[in-house]
Amino acid sequence: MNQLLFSAPTVSALPVRGRTEQVPLRRIFCVGRNYEAHGREMGVVVDREAPFYFTKAAEHYAPSGSTVPYPPGTGNYHYEMELVVVIGAPVFRVPVERALDGVFGYACGLDMTRRDLQQAAREQRRPWDLGKDFEQSAIVADIVPATDIGHPREGVIELRVNGETKQHSDISLLIHSVPEIVAHLSTFYHLQPGDIIFTGTPEGVGPVKPGDEIEGSIAGVGTIKLKIGTPDEG
Ligand code: MN
Repeated sequence: MNQLLFSAPTVSALPVRGRTEQVPLRRIFCVGRNYEAHGREMGVVVDREAPFYFTKAAEHYAPSGSTVPYPPGTGNYHYEMELVVVIGAPVFRVPVERALDGVFGYACGLDMTRRDLQQAAREQRRPWDLGKDFEQSAIVADIVPATDIGHPREGVIELRVNGETKQHSDISLLIHSVPEIVAHLSTFYHLQPGDIIFTGTPEGVGPVKPGDEIEGSIAGVGTIKLKIGTPDEG
């Protein structure tokens, strides 16, 4: 192998509940506006025809239980509690009826967002990267294999900040279901084991500040935690 000029990035590995083996993280896809009431609070009409996506670099993953510094460049740093789908087999152009065959399991996720930058980009019809794809913005908790819990189609999804409930909905209210998302995304990408998909957040998103403690849960899937630290003054 050729010698590298710089140290190579390490592959992040996602813990799996009840197993010693971990899932190597490949790509992070995120569905936008996949709950009606969240679309409404964002001032947009949701598109029921097809999901749309943005991505986050795998390097921007952080595990549940982390303390992440309040990120630079924002004054409106938001939580978004989401169901995360973990791909476990190659999937390309799969029909909806067979899409779940490619799903290894599920996890709780936090799609952390610099809302002011996302909204400014939206208004200027620019990409969302600065608002969505930044360091330690993709928080994922332990994966639970579908062989253990099946493929959840309903269950309360909740998020609390400092013990106060901010988001409370049910994953049955996803506009585009997990098999629909996997089938649709597989018409654009050759999905691979270790790819994960954030499926969108319900209503109730809001800001956090240094010192805040976030806890989220999805019935039958698990829990997730995140603490907000002070800004990195560099
Ligand atoms: Mn989201």
